[in-house]
This record gives sequence, C-alpha cells and structure tokens, in this order.
Amino acid sequence: MLTREQFHANLAAVRARIGAACADAGRDPRSVLLLPVTKTHPAEAAALAFEAGYGAVGENRAQEAAAKRPLAPAALRWELIGHLQSNKAKLAAATFDRVQSLDSPELAEKLGRSCVEIGKTLPVLLQANAGHDSAKAGVADFDALLRLAETAAACPALRIEGLMTIPALDADPAVARRAFDTLRGWRDTLAERTGLALPQLSMGMSGDLESAIAAGATIIRVGTALFGVR
Ligand SMILES: *Cc1c(COP(=O)(O)O)cnc(C)c1O
Repeated sequence: MLTREQFHANLAAVRARIGAACADAGRDPRSVLLLPVTKTHPAEAAALAFEAGYGAVGENRAQEAAAKRPLAPAALRWELIGHLQSNKAKLAAATFDRVQSLDSPELAEKLGRSCVEIGKTLPVLLQANAGHDSAKAGVADFDALLRLAETAAACPALRIEGLMTIPALDADPAVARRAFDTLRGWRDTLAERTGLALPQLSMGMSGDLESAIAAGATIIRVGTALFGVR
C-alpha cells in the first residue's frame, strides 16, 4: 500500500497529464472524469481517492468490490469495469453504482431483472471491442452493439449512458488511437440510430490517456499511474 504522500504525488502527475492533453485537444479538463481504479489494492486506496475528492472508484471483479465496499467511505460510489459473468448479476446489481462493462444482451436482461428485484436503476455503459482484439471482452462489431443497445434500452431498470472500450494490451499508440476513434464513431452512429443520448465515452488508462482524451474520452480509468504497479 502506497503512502498518502506517494498517492498525492502520483495524482498531481496524472492531473498534469490530463491538463496537458486537454490543452492540446482544446478541451476543458472538467469534461474528463478521472476514475481511480483500485482493483487488487486494499480499501484504503479507495479511501485515499475519496479524501482527494474523487466520488467513485473502478473495480474489475464483483466479489472484490463487495468485500471492500463496507471498509471504505459510505458515500464513495463503485463502478464495475471488468467482465461480469451472468451468475454474478445479482451481486453486481447490489454492489455497483454503475456498470461500464455490459457486453451481451443476455447479461443486460439478467442485470436488468436483478435491478428490478431490488428496486434500483443502474447506469450502464456498453462495452465494445473497438480494437477488434480477440483477448478483450465487448461486443465485436456495430451490429452486435446495436442489438445490445436495443436489449438494454428495453430493460426499465438500466439507463444507458454511453460506451466503453479497452484497446489491445501493449498496442502501439496508433492502434489504440484507432480503437478510440472507432468507439467514438460507433457512439455517434448508435446515438443517431437509437435516439439515445450516450454522452459518456470511457476509454484511456495509465498508458494511453492522452490519446483517449484527444479522441474524445469523457471518462479515463487509471490504476497503475495512481496506485503503483499491481
Ligand atoms: C485495470 C484496468 C484499468 C486501469 O489500468 P491501468 O493501466 O492500471 O491504469 C482500466 N480499465 C480496465 C477495464 C481495467 O481492468
């Protein structure tokens, strides 16, 4: 576990990168939400982020988040950014304030039903494999994305806010940038075809947040650059 001083130094460095990327792109830094990713780190890491003014953290496993949540500040919000098995839909519905990794119509229906059961409206992002990376989750193409959007939109307890993608691991910067541009294009077309607003584009991590911001990211998910290597 890193110290508070290390965390604040890391945070200052990440904020400087966001500021520089926004200046280059002619964007307001307030238009980019930094989501600290606390997976594999103890609940204290989430508390550090909260104390520094961040209202939400990202986790990639439902059980891990469910275990940490009671140990962290009660007002902190938790977002799922990792693949969810449909047999964990109930746990995820109870644990998370937003799910960024909705990646199949079947999961949408399960998660939607679990939310109805507990009387909760859950904001979601649709995860798309915009980089066509075989190792990454997310719907594979625009037609699958459209089917997922239609299914999720028919679930009264789900509120679709936008799209999320993870580019190929170790992709060269040009490959990652192409995935980000593809996601933005899919978002624009999907919004047109469905009438959904879809304001959120969650893309960019420690290694590629600049190019994600240049491509229009509204949420960047940063773990390593804030909390150190896992
Ligand atoms: C772990 C993870 C991140 C954070 O990655 P870093 O490279 O540590 O910043 C972002 N998004 C997802 C989906 C992750 O699983």
